[in-house]
Amino acid sequence: MLKGRKVTVLGAGVAGLSVARALALRGAEVTVLEQAPEIREVGAGLQISPNGARVISALGLGAALGKAGQRAEAVELRDGESGAVVLRMDLSRAGTGNDFLFLHRADLIDVLQEGARDAGVTIRLLKQVDEVRLGAHPPRLVTTLGEEFEAEILIGADGLHSKVRAALNGTVAPFFTHQVAWRATLPAEPGIAPVAQVFMGPGRHLVTYPLRGGRLRNIVAVEERRRWAEESWSLTDDPLALRIAFEEFVPEVRGWLDRIERPNLWGLFRHPVAARWHGHGAAILGDAAHPTLPFLAQGANMALEDAWVLAETLDAGAGPETAFADYQRAREGRCRRIVDAANANARNYHLSGLRRDVAHLGLRALGKFAPDRVLGRFEWLYGHDVVGAPR
Ligand code: FAD
Repeated sequence: MLKGRKVTVLGAGVAGLSVARALALRGAEVTVLEQAPEIREVGAGLQISPNGARVISALGLGAALGKAGQRAEAVELRDGESGAVVLRMDLSRAGTGNDFLFLHRADLIDVLQEGARDAGVTIRLLKQVDEVRLGAHPPRLVTTLGEEFEAEILIGADGLHSKVRAALNGTVAPFFTHQVAWRATLPAEPGIAPVAQVFMGPGRHLVTYPLRGGRLRNIVAVEERRRWAEESWSLTDDPLALRIAFEEFVPEVRGWLDRIERPNLWGLFRHPVAARWHGHGAAILGDAAHPTLPFLAQGANMALEDAWVLAETLDAGAGPETAFADYQRAREGRCRRIVDAANANARNYHLSGLRRDVAHLGLRALGKFAPDRVLGRFEWLYGHDVVGAPR
């Protein structure tokens, strides 16, 4: 039922490019408007878990994804100060190893961008939308240069500071989580294992995993802080501040940090999940609808799931508003659960004293006596299949 329908997608990130391909494959005429002069991603890693990989495969891009990514063997939680492994989640145990991947963000965007163009999607760069008008007429977009676009159906995939979300919901100030994060990539040492490691310590943690077939090491390091002003991805910081924050951690970690020259630093803010995901011929998805903290590695995975469900409901033929309502109904509960779980992870990683000892003891016992239950606890997350689900 999408054949010949004209859809405008705002934003060429993971959400925008994947929904654009999904819609175009179903016959829609799709135009993506993107503010950037070229589609380029910041140099950082992403974990694509089976729930997201399933969507990429269903979009016909599984082979390209496999080439761009590196299969993950395990996720390990380690004590940052002793280095001891507290829990190891072996991803091969439940057959998830084949589609749990580490990727450079730029490589994922390349796969999706090529996929969108191959499906006939038009991508128009340097279109920074300043105003989204929803109401008695079809959705209208006005760029900073004064160009106007009218959309038959508008999909807002414009990320954390979404204009489409604001047009539907108004704006709500995010609140600072009292956490800042550094991120960096550095050349990896030979033989780096395909394992995501989380080093946990009081008030801080560090996540690391390989990228690009083991040529790079991706690092995200989080510290609790009282004050912060900006929510930007592009600030750089003195590497000494990062080294000092993790000076109590094992030499292995300190060695990596010693090699980082210009880490990026940003403040972690919490944005509420949007109450209205659609209205007046427009809908939102990805970070525009449900921004998340990165502590469950699910923001991009949720965006992929959204993209599939949104295209499928729009294609079902009941008209955009019914389709959008079905889409929100299908997605909102799950996305809220994931966002809550990511919030809780931040607290769990940063425990200290007796609470930390008790928590680590429990996790060690779980890993030793019931290793299958470790992965089982994530079945709701990784086992979720939007592609095969009846709706
Ligand atoms: P974005 O990627 O922000 O894309 C929005 C696009 O819209 C951009 O291209 C932007 O330029 C464009 N745009 C915005 N406003 C306008 C405008 N007014 N006019 C025109 N264009 C506009 N997720 C995972 O699944 N796994 C992970 O391992 C993972 N790790 C992460 C690690 C870190 C450190 C962080 C910060 C996030 C991580 N995430 C992860 C989350 C994930 O990166 C995001 O959730 C995901 O990229 C959101 O995609 P999106 O397309 O919704 O938004």
